[in-house]
Amino acid sequence: MKLTILGSGSPEAYARRASSGYLVEIGRDRILFDCGGGVFDNLLRSGRLPSDITHIIFSHLHSDHMMDYARLVHAAWDEGGAPIQVYGPAPIKAITDGYFGPEGVLSHDLRARTELPQSQEVWLARGGTLPRPWPEPVVREITPGQMMKGDGWQIQSCQAPHAQPFLECMAFSLTTADKKFVYSGDAGLCPAVETICQNADFLLHWCYRLDGEDVNPKMAATTPTPSEIGAMAKRVGARALMLTHFRKHMDEPKRFDRAIQAASDTFGRSVTIAEDLQLIQI
Ligand SMILES: [Zn+2]
Repeated sequence: MKLTILGSGSPEAYARRASSGYLVEIGRDRILFDCGGGVFDNLLRSGRLPSDITHIIFSHLHSDHMMDYARLVHAAWDEGGAPIQVYGPAPIKAITDGYFGPEGVLSHDLRARTELPQSQEVWLARGGTLPRPWPEPVVREITPGQMMKGDGWQIQSCQAPHAQPFLECMAFSLTTADKKFVYSGDAGLCPAVETICQNADFLLHWCYRLDGEDVNPKMAATTPTPSEIGAMAKRVGARALMLTHFRKHMDEPKRFDRAIQAASDTFGRSVTIAEDLQLIQI
């Protein structure tokens, strides 16, 4: 399977890093984990089209993980793409309806695009037929522990401590016949996440805080440091570890190098930090 980093950043506005987005390609399926701001443009920069995406899977519904969702669904629809399969915690159905439903914020745009005679002509000239349907992503709400299956792959979810009780948050392991990829989402360390990480060929783990940074204890419990993540990756027998969800101050060269060093020391192998548009063969 092939992993493309489409957003390695946080909610901060940052030219170097878009908010969260990770594309996994297996056979003909293109599975996008999270779709934060900037992910759409990076998808185009990576040489793919919105309608290339077959699945979107949300770890949670913080804005930095879903801000480009509507843009991607709308653009894929406008290209005449097949409906995207969407999985995520509640209220992803209500959010999708809030964009694309009959009274959604995009309903005025969609009514104009599908009912204005001139717009219909443009649609027909592009090979479309009338009446033109509205975007219809196939949305399924999932809860931690649920599995998702596709052609030659399956995804196991588990609860990831992060923004509960306001938002349900999940980590995912994606397995094929011979590989296992794990995406932590925004996760504090816990037994459920460790279980899902067992023997991962590639563990992509968020990192929101550096070793030695002072935060309040509640925050500390859900934001493991590079050394803590490296130690966990070693405990679970992961074969490769990449940190992501970096913030501006963490990219200051000395801090960046120390983060790699701290995670590599506890992991016992070299750890990498994700960069936008990076391609990884797993
Ligand atoms: Zn986040």
